[in-house]
Amino acid sequence: MADAVGELIACHECDRLHWQAALPPGGRADCNNCGALLYRDIPDSLNRALALYLTALLLFIIANSFPFLALEFGGRVESNLLISGGWALYEMGMGELGLLVFLTSIVFPLLTMLGMLYLLIPLRFGERPPAMGLVWRLVNGLLPWSLLGVFLLGTLVAVIKLQDLANVIPGVALFAFAASMFAYAAARANFDPRKLWVGSPIRQLTADAARAGAPLHTCHGCGLLRPLSDGLHHCPRCGSRLHYRKTDSVNRTWALLIAAALLFIPANVFPIMEVIQFGQGEPDTIISGVIKLIGAGFWGLGLLVFFVSIVVPVAKLVSLAWLLKTVQKRSSWRPRDRTRLYRVTEVVGSWSMVDVFLVGLLTGLVSLDVLATVRPGIGATFFASVVILTMFAAMSFDSRLIWDTCDEDGETDEHVQGSSEVPA
Ligand SMILES: [Zn+2]
Ligand SMILES: [Zn+2]
Repeated sequence: MADAVGELIACHECDRLHWQAALPPGGRADCNNCGALLYRDIPDSLNRALALYLTALLLFIIANSFPFLALEFGGRVESNLLISGGWALYEMGMGELGLLVFLTSIVFPLLTMLGMLYLLIPLRFGERPPAMGLVWRLVNGLLPWSLLGVFLLGTLVAVIKLQDLANVIPGVALFAFAASMFAYAAARANFDPRKLWVGSPIRQLTADAARAGAPLHTCHGCGLLRPLSDGLHHCPRCGSRLHYRKTDSVNRTWALLIAAALLFIPANVFPIMEVIQFGQGEPDTIISGVIKLIGAGFWGLGLLVFFVSIVVPVAKLVSLAWLLKTVQKRSSWRPRDRTRLYRVTEVVGSWSMVDVFLVGLLTGLVSLDVLATVRPGIGATFFASVVILTMFAAMSFDSRLIWDTCDEDGETDEHVQGSSEVPA
């Protein structure tokens, strides 16, 4: 990665400036201020990422074309496609939930893979694709909402939950889906985003300009640094909107958190689904579903669902509220740990979608008329809203605010990364 060595970058979590250094093969550079990953050396990144994204796409097409799961019940076999869950929710009059399942488990992952291939194939042959910035922004925007892993976990929960009701037969598509998820995760891990901008005519600001100590804009899309005094509204390299700190971050995050906290009440009061067997059944809330799972002997599964559906959303609400409070009080208490807490909050949030996927999958799978049916409940919609709002809340929080007050103690000097030399 010779091109970027010696260039200045800002840590995206604390805004500390670093000079990029050459790394040993497979090495990584972490921010010495907050501990965030800055960049990694990935040998042969373009080839690896391209091969893995192609593999993920092919497997994903297979996963969408063949039976996903089949249910054998009283001599009848009903097989389902991946899309069945979302469709069944729509047919049961819960179109908004069906759309959410459809988008996060099929459309967004597919668009992410296609977008990455659109970027990687020309780059592999030394060409720069048209509208590169636009496609990269689209991919970046969809990444947090492409929930292949979460959907797979939801599927596993559904399969185990159904075992006492019927015989579940996994289809070809389920295996293809799981393999696609692993290839997709590996593709993401093997892609070095710095490769995108190697041939870009727009360069970083010079060392002299950085030394002048003027405030800088960091582009969230591509990491480009420009002096604030340029007066630019959009990144000249990728087209992302530029702002010194996320716009109105504290107020927006508060608003989203309060809305999520309010919706968490109906999400737990109203049933999320109803399993009807031989014309009988009773509605289940999140908690009663967990209790039933534990009662049926599925301890691990019950605790897992409890963790992702109750512990994670509550912990997320509390920790984001606390982070906002400390920022508002301009606290300088352990900024590194607070940044770490924020990092965890951002990562774990989407796993709460397991319960929403579970409702979708069970609704799609179990539609055996009089024998057994699963009906979604309005609680699932409230719960999905909580998950989405807390995810938006985490995205709208600007972790650099944690450091803004700490930096006032005279720690704004540039730090040298690794063994690199500060260019003269
Ligand atoms: Zn940092
Ligand atoms: Zn940019």
